[in-house]
Amino acid sequence: MLPFKLVCAPTFYRPIGQSVFPVSKYRLIYQHLLEKGIAAPDDFVEPVPASNEDVLLVHTPEYVYKLRAGTLSESEEWQLEVPYSRELVEAYWLCAGGTILAADCALRDGVAFNVSGGFHHAFPDHGEGFNLINDVAVAIRHMQKRGKIKTAMTVDCDVHHGNGTAAIFGTPNAAILPRPERLPYMRESAARDVFTISLHQENNYPAWKPPSAIDVGLPDGIGDDEYLAWLEKAVMSGLQRFQPDLICYLAGSDPYRRDLLGGLALTIEGLKRRDEFVFRTARARGVPVLGLPAGGYAADVRDSVAIHCNTVLAACLRS
Ligand SMILES: [Zn+2]
Repeated sequence: MLPFKLVCAPTFYRPIGQSVFPVSKYRLIYQHLLEKGIAAPDDFVEPVPASNEDVLLVHTPEYVYKLRAGTLSESEEWQLEVPYSRELVEAYWLCAGGTILAADCALRDGVAFNVSGGFHHAFPDHGEGFNLINDVAVAIRHMQKRGKIKTAMTVDCDVHHGNGTAAIFGTPNAAILPRPERLPYMRESAARDVFTISLHQENNYPAWKPPSAIDVGLPDGIGDDEYLAWLEKAVMSGLQRFQPDLICYLAGSDPYRRDLLGGLALTIEGLKRRDEFVFRTARARGVPVLGLPAGGYAADVRDSVAIHCNTVLAACLRS
């Protein structure tokens, strides 16, 4: 039995037809955790959907109405990159409810995971890149509204920049910064009550990357050691500037060298070291961690699943 909870629901897995987005991943993570004896059935808790009120803490009433009523324009649907359906909307609301529940469990137990979630490409007024609503932002605003936390930090290690999260929590009217000439780079910007860190492949989606509090833009093909050195630099710098009440860790498996949508070259072992660093660092400072899978599109889905399950194992290590 695990010393923390895993939030999971059968309806996280809505079929969305032919897509590179592997919704089956969530079911496979659940099965793998049980089959390998990493988790027991009692370790899982089932969420309820987020309320519209919670979603409206982050998203505009116009966008929420369009999602619920099915009145997105053709171009808005195209931008989602997944076929729109009412069932898909329900799945996203449920996932946001899962991230809220996992945030609550993390505050109680020190760590918790939502088996789905980490939808960092959703903006207040639109969705993109497979992401309809930003579950991480919804959970943070929900916890703040109820007085459970004042501050939070996102450590976004998905290979793609956390553009929606950066836009939601960034400084209003932040300057559009020129693209750095040299890679890798680390750039620091202002932060308010939520400190966003994004470590990503620079030459990848999304084209427009609104400033996070710390952005690390990495060149194509970077390997384990260099990646881990930049991660450490970014997280340590963030924790010097800011004291979070909760860390939301987007443990994307897409920096993996065999990922179809990523262009970095991390190994499964390197990704394990990444996870261990995040949990060890948070534990040393007594900051609870909410873990989320975010993206992962390995040529063999079993690799993505193994990487995500390793994140759960890394949270169990005590040193
Ligand atoms: Zn990604």
